[in-house]
Amino acid sequence: MTKETKTRYYQALRHMAQTMSSATTARGTLRSVIKATARAMEVAGSALLLLDPDREYLIPVAASGLSDWYLRKGLLNAQKSLPEVLEGKAVAILDAATDTRLEYPESAAKAGIASLLCVPVTHRGEIIAELRVYSRQQRQFSRRDREFLATVADLCATVLERWRLEQALPGGPTAPTGAQMPRSPSPIAPISFAHPSEEEFARLLDFYRIDWVYEPRSFPLHWEDDKGSEMFTPDFYLPELDLYVELTTLKPRLAAEKNRKVRRLKQLYPDINIRLLNKKDYHRLLAKYGHGPLGEAKVEGIERVLLSTSQIQGRVRQLARLISRDYEGRQPLLIGVLKGVFCFLADLMRHITVPMSVDFMAISYYGENSEAVQITKDLDTNISGRDVLMVEDIVDTGMTLNYILRYLRARDPASLRVCTLLDKRVRRLIEVPLDYVGFEIGDQFVVGYGLDYRGEYRNLPFIGVLNPELREA
Ligand code: 5GP
Repeated sequence: MTKETKTRYYQALRHMAQTMSSATTARGTLRSVIKATARAMEVAGSALLLLDPDREYLIPVAASGLSDWYLRKGLLNAQKSLPEVLEGKAVAILDAATDTRLEYPESAAKAGIASLLCVPVTHRGEIIAELRVYSRQQRQFSRRDREFLATVADLCATVLERWRLEQALPGGPTAPTGAQMPRSPSPIAPISFAHPSEEEFARLLDFYRIDWVYEPRSFPLHWEDDKGSEMFTPDFYLPELDLYVELTTLKPRLAAEKNRKVRRLKQLYPDINIRLLNKKDYHRLLAKYGHGPLGEAKVEGIERVLLSTSQIQGRVRQLARLISRDYEGRQPLLIGVLKGVFCFLADLMRHITVPMSVDFMAISYYGENSEAVQITKDLDTNISGRDVLMVEDIVDTGMTLNYILRYLRARDPASLRVCTLLDKRVRRLIEVPLDYVGFEIGDQFVVGYGLDYRGEYRNLPFIGVLNPELREA
């Protein structure tokens, strides 16, 4: 590597660090970092692709130097597009047109991309996104190039975490709060919707925490000289439901034209799931999946859905993967405190692949007639010398967990770790060590998926925010 390249990389990193400390929004920072990366590496473009909660799709959240057309070439499937990156490896492609590890080699060739380099973006040992750079000339990326890009990926992880916190904290820029990484590109790259009904549909999906991608992919419907002479780009793709959605108004002429296109698309691409919807239809569609004003999941007293069933399930699977990896060769004992944890613990343990056992305890809570906290149901197992994993539904002030950890430590386990589904960090009074966290959430009272309010709501398959008025009543 020449001295000049070294200086360029150093200056770029310095510039990025300055942007990180001065830019007001995470979104602005990411854009600037991505642009500076392409400039420093002297490549045509770069992109930061976020993994969706189920780790299936890659959603572009910031890009530089790539055509809109290329970014929308199709939703990238993380398992099909450079899958080795999901194992934590950096992957360099010398000839994008022929390399089978790319999902859309023909689009890369059409966009004039010859080579690319991709590195994972890791946060707390988990891959959350991918960072890619694209070169128009064939290029052998050097060790230094890889190191530079990996360093930028680390910076991106920090910014993404900040973004997530901005979303989760009350009063954050995107309040009302969300609890997970942004699911659609909307917060980063403002989308100009072609029609107000599309924007309304996007808002409705956001409200019910259903992932979406706007105009994800163009399908050729007719060809001339091997080129698509008529293209059709559905308005939305909903990865969770594997469904493309085209919205339509009730104007008969327009509706007929869209109907024709959708029919043709179904003929040509029978595997593609697509629906043509007008407003009434889409309320019905959401209802079918248990969301929306017509859905069964609409429950009296719930202000909004904070974490959908599929978000929870996706995260539970990830946590179980991490736990299985960390406890390889050992037989952990999972301990849950009744009752709130029973849904989470039941799902979590079914995805854990190492042999394990489970036990429960129960304690009295403040306001339940006892003067001081006490164990109302003790463990059936002797935990001395065991690898104990304490599983919690939610950590709020930390007082409950602190008490339980003290109790367990006194019984001499070989190791003691904590896994919690929800972490209300902003409310913490006592610092407690958390080894595995599902979602960090803001200061709001949540119910569902085992969590109750006065004994109710435990059976909701999602986690919702309880209407504060109901609590104060
Ligand atoms: P901590 O001792 O950390 O303040 O509180 C932990 C316990 O408080 C949890 O196990 C749970 O029972 C209850 N809790 C705290 N926040 C919430 C919440 O938002 N919803 C529900 N249902 N329970 C909560």
